[in-house]
Amino acid sequence: MEECIFCRIASGEMYAEVVYGDDRVVAFRDINPQAPVHVLVIPRKHVRSVFDLSPQDGELLSHIFQVIRKISADEGIAEKGVRVLTNVEREAGQSVFHLHFHVLGGRRMLWPPG
Ligand code: AMP
Repeated sequence: MEECIFCRIASGEMYAEVVYGDDRVVAFRDINPQAPVHVLVIPRKHVRSVFDLSPQDGELLSHIFQVIRKISADEGIAEKGVRVLTNVEREAGQSVFHLHFHVLGGRRMLWPPG
């Protein structure tokens, strides 16, 4: 999966501003931020989207959300408000086909999303 840019970021082969990392998960700042805080949280293992998770990934998914909460606290947005989202396939806006959760905050979010 060397052609996957998020696999390359996870392995350290490609630079990103990493804000958190452990044996299962990496988080880094989005290169095109849509809010004052815009971090992407990814599993190290290659998964195309949330639709490709299996029941065995339950603990990984739970861990990802623990990491999202920690990052939100570290970035100072946990109390005011955080938008956590993941896009699945092109019409929803997915452009990188390695599962990632956007963690956005630091401004008032609009609804409905564009
Ligand atoms: P999505 O469109 O939901 O698939 O989100 C992909 C996100 O990855 C976009 O917000 C991009 O700005 C971001 N992105 C793409 N390449 C990089 C990169 N090399 N480093 C950090 N963020 C990236």
